[in-house]
Amino acid sequence: MADARSAFDKKDISKCAISFEASIALLPKEYQVEINTSKYESLARSRHNIICDNCEEESSRDVIRPYELLVSNLARLITGKRFSTVWKCPKCSHVRALEGSQTKLIKWHQPNYFKVIPEPPSRRGLHDRIGWEAKFEKWYDICCKEIEHQVALYRTEYAAQQDEVVGVNLADA
Ligand SMILES: [Zn+2]
Repeated sequence: MADARSAFDKKDISKCAISFEASIALLPKEYQVEINTSKYESLARSRHNIICDNCEEESSRDVIRPYELLVSNLARLITGKRFSTVWKCPKCSHVRALEGSQTKLIKWHQPNYFKVIPEPPSRRGLHDRIGWEAKFEKWYDICCKEIEHQVALYRTEYAAQQDEVVGVNLADA
């Protein structure tokens, strides 16, 4: 993980990803973190509720099915986009844009770990430098937390097993 940190400091995302993969590979299979962007995103979404601004109903973010809607000519002139991603409230059927909709994080009692991390964010050309750095930092943070959590779990389990072995030996003596 120290290698990942130094690669992160140098903004070397491929080295960082390689280092994370190496850390994961060192763990026994049952502690290994899966690298799967779509799985990570759907797990992360399930922690959010989206709130309808018409009827104030809260719906789980992974239950609603956002879809693309062709926008009006006026909206197209303003945003420069032909489509807008919208969602429909299951209670009142009110349709509104996903972007800008209010969401609420569902509070869990325990810090939650998914045992899944997304793939490293890709860079969309030179102009995207600032956006990419923010994504890189977020990705790095997610990966560190998930991997370190599994390492800690493994260490705890390993230590417990060592205690057991010692305990058995003492009982035999
Ligand atoms: Zn509604």
